[in-house]
Amino acid sequence: MSELLFRDDAYLRTASAKVTAVDERGLELDRTIFYPLGGGQPGDTGAVIRADGERVVIQDTRKGVAPDSVLHIPARPASLQLGEPVTLEIDWERRYALMRLHTALHVMSCVVTAPVTGGNIAPDKARLDFDIEMSLLNAQHIEQATNALIARGLDTQTVWITDEELEARPDLVKTMSVQPPRGAGRVRLLRIPGIDLQPCGGTHVRNIGEIGAIRVLKIRSEGKRNRRVEIALAG
Ligand SMILES: [Zn+2]
Repeated sequence: MSELLFRDDAYLRTASAKVTAVDERGLELDRTIFYPLGGGQPGDTGAVIRADGERVVIQDTRKGVAPDSVLHIPARPASLQLGEPVTLEIDWERRYALMRLHTALHVMSCVVTAPVTGGNIAPDKARLDFDIEMSLLNAQHIEQATNALIARGLDTQTVWITDEELEARPDLVKTMSVQPPRGAGRVRLLRIPGIDLQPCGGTHVRNIGEIGAIRVLKIRSEGKRNRRVEIALAG
């Protein structure tokens, strides 16, 4: 189990930690700023730096088997020792782009009012899939309406509720394919006041103004019930 520092502060670029496990799958640490693949957001990349300055390049981050365990996957086998103190460093430019695009998807999901059937985020583009008629999707409208909301410059908020509260509010779950993880006793929500409130464990910007603006790259049909809207940051 690892203390998930990114959950309370998505802006941490470096942190100190100790190695708690090393095996062929990867390294585990007592605390981490590396976000593991999940919720459509890719795992972080970066480096684990040893006391002598050696940089162990981390090429991916995945969830471990136990709750709140995180596997940092090195690019090459690393000879780290249990208990060894290290400095963590994430590829911030990549992560910040992911945070901006991720938060942009939250905003866009309130412009296109249809059930979300899937989604994915990459450093250069992001998409949501909707169960909606193609004729109801207009790229120009989605772009303008999403950018008008972003221009409000609202702060985002993290809210925790209990599993029971979530059960009582099924309307909070927009994503049909990705149900939020239950069983941990509490669920994390992202709130953009007056715009969006939904379960999400990902990393977001503090203020939606940081997104800048988005553009719609394309809208296409991905099967009978799926219409895919792909966006990128405008600048
Ligand atoms: Zn989110």
